[in-house]
Amino acid sequence: MGVLTGRTALVTGAGRGIGRGIAERLGRDGARVAVHYGSSEAAAKETVAAIEAAGGSAFAIRAELGRPGDAEALWEEFDRHAEGLDILVNNAGIGGAPPIEEIDEATYDQVFAVNVRAPFFIVRHGLERLRDGGRIINISSGLARTAVFPHQIAYAMTKAALDVFSRDLSKVLGRRGVTVNSVAPGIIDTDNTAELLHGTEGGWARAAEISALGRVGETADVADVVAFLASDAGRWVTGSWVDATGGSLT
Ligand code: NAP
Repeated sequence: MGVLTGRTALVTGAGRGIGRGIAERLGRDGARVAVHYGSSEAAAKETVAAIEAAGGSAFAIRAELGRPGDAEALWEEFDRHAEGLDILVNNAGIGGAPPIEEIDEATYDQVFAVNVRAPFFIVRHGLERLRDGGRIINISSGLARTAVFPHQIAYAMTKAALDVFSRDLSKVLGRRGVTVNSVAPGIIDTDNTAELLHGTEGGWARAAEISALGRVGETADVADVVAFLASDAGRWVTGSWVDATGGSLT
């Protein structure tokens, strides 16, 4: 019996990267996990297989986010497999945006559509499925609170918007016993940071230096924080911005 046995969780963008780490961790803790993906079908199937191989239960659902009707399409898929939800992790995101000197309006709109509008409407249309006492965890970024990479201005703005969503939604849903929090990773080794960490001379060492702990983060570093918030142990934490940057903001 895990601490999440009997609960159902949905993790968006769970085929790869941080989302996969979170999905696998929640699965190990006993939750039945909906593994959402957009285009990475094979990767999502691998996540499901990994959860099942560890003795857990999972299923994959596809929905391309960032287009009108995306959230409703996601929930239609979800409803084919499960009834009701306990834990929603809004993780899927476009992990960067061109600098202000280069970005065009269509790109700006797409980054906001995936990183802000999609989580908002996933919650909007998911509320009727979310059980009292549930959890909503939005994956933000340390960049919402530091200008260490100022060229990421549009991306950072999306995460700041997500943080306001977490804060205010915690008040809206609190009387139902639902907690809502943002978890903000620092630099984590994923596809999204591959160019920074592996494609740039000395990139890995520079990224490690930013963290007080002197290393680059792993997906499990974030997944463990999410697992705490998702569990009963996290019941009194809501409306918070949880720093999971390994001390990159100090
Ligand atoms: P990643 O490796 O680039 O993966 C992005 C995930 O988001 C994929 O699972 C992808 O699914 C999904 N996604 C992106 N656009 C989508 C769309 N239009 N429709 C549906 N799914 C979409 O990213 P990551 O590094 O794991 O980051 C995960 C989250 O953590 C993001 O919100 C990111 O902003 C945040 N974050 C990351 C870092 C870091 O250093 N890595 C730091 C701070 C915050 P498909 O491949 O199936 O389309």
